[in-house]
Amino acid sequence: MRVRLILYFALIVLVSVGSVVIFARYSTAREVRAYMFRGGMVGLEELVTTLEEYYQQNHSWQGAESLLSSPGFGHGWRFGNQGNPAPGQMGMRAMMVQRLRLADAKGQVVVDTADGDPISLLTSAEIEAAIPLQAGSEIVGYLLPEGGGMFNHNDEVYLVSRLSRAALNAAIVAVFFSLLLALFFSYRLLLPVRALTRAATHLAEGDLTGRVVVHGNDELATLGKAFNHMASSLQQAEENRQSMTADIAHELRTPLAVQRAHLEALQDGVYPATPENLAPILEQNLLLTRLVEDLRTLALADGGQLHLECRSTDFPALVQRVVDRFMPQANAQGVSILFSAENHCPPISVDPDRVEQILGNLLSNGLRYAPEGGKVELKLSSSLKVVQVTVRDSGPGIPEASLPRIFERFYRADRSRSRVEGGTGLGLAIARQLAEAHGGTLVAANHPAGGAVFTLELPVNREKRIES
Ligand code: ADP
Repeated sequence: MRVRLILYFALIVLVSVGSVVIFARYSTAREVRAYMFRGGMVGLEELVTTLEEYYQQNHSWQGAESLLSSPGFGHGWRFGNQGNPAPGQMGMRAMMVQRLRLADAKGQVVVDTADGDPISLLTSAEIEAAIPLQAGSEIVGYLLPEGGGMFNHNDEVYLVSRLSRAALNAAIVAVFFSLLLALFFSYRLLLPVRALTRAATHLAEGDLTGRVVVHGNDELATLGKAFNHMASSLQQAEENRQSMTADIAHELRTPLAVQRAHLEALQDGVYPATPENLAPILEQNLLLTRLVEDLRTLALADGGQLHLECRSTDFPALVQRVVDRFMPQANAQGVSILFSAENHCPPISVDPDRVEQILGNLLSNGLRYAPEGGKVELKLSSSLKVVQVTVRDSGPGIPEASLPRIFERFYRADRSRSRVEGGTGLGLAIARQLAEAHGGTLVAANHPAGGAVFTLELPVNREKRIES
């Protein structure tokens, strides 16, 4: 872009300067020629040659006056005509204002176009100023032009004014062409800006589908790409917001409907208000509470408002606490939880509650999918840079088609199973957000030997921290 601008301006300058030079040169040449015609300079050389040839043929100046009054050199050389003749007629008419005196080798005037006294002698100063006429190497006479050959004040004013006008014309032509070029280039340069403005206006009016066509690789193209990227992000965010709202409404509807049905039954006396009959209502209420809490956590993470209370934490002890918490559930399901630490893990700075939340989610999912008699394995390892925990279960694994989507909000590969078992479909989305808030990662895969494997990595020296 910058190079293009520079090239465009250089071109405009070039055209301006070029047209001034060309036009001024042409005009100056024309004006100077006109001035010389006006001063009678042009044609004099021709006259000198003619006179010299005449002398060589006749060996005398007798009859030479016919040369000075011949049509080729005007009739009767007169002073006084100071008009501005048209350029084409300039030579003829300009010469008519000249006085010419032709003298022989001794300075004796033989022809005087001003009808002066022909029997006069040129002074030595006049001889000095006159054009010597030669036959071979011998001077045979003098031609003394007067009037037009002199550069007087009037001539100067005249020449200067003509040249000024020529310069002005050149400037006007240059300005005209420069303006034309400037208009053309600015139009071309502003084309993408106009397209961007149009697209931005549509975007502001709520149409998030508008994009600009990007050509080339310059600054405007980069701006266009950035704009398209921004529009895509906005469109994606809007689609997420819409589907999120729909998902939330959908998630709330089932527990609320269940609660309402039970409460109506109790109210109508269909069921007595026994603890057993109240249990489903409480269960749905807990689900709603969890859902609202999960949504709040996600909203905080989205807004960069998730406050982590990080402190130096004994990581193996933290994992062990989570394992212990789920042990009763595992025992009840007939699933074993195996935890092993591969090497020594130094204390690292994390928010222990949030990390427990991540591992709790992975472990509860593992227990949900591991069959009776199956197992969930946790392996802890650490390097200088990261601490890694893998959670692998002996369940069916994650359907390949669902793998890229399981971290999306409300995504469930097996919708009915998840909901029946109290899943909100937000667990993994929150777990990943929490891992990223720690500057870490959480990824999912299927183990070649079967079952799902989730890998949590947290940096040992964490710099990225989302603070409120
Ligand atoms: P929820 O468990 O509440 O449905 P999650 O976000 O925790 O929501 O999980 C999203 C989806 O990922 C689950 O519905 C399930 O389809 C899939 N998933 C999670 N963990 C596992 C696992 N260990 N084995 C198989 N599928 C899993």
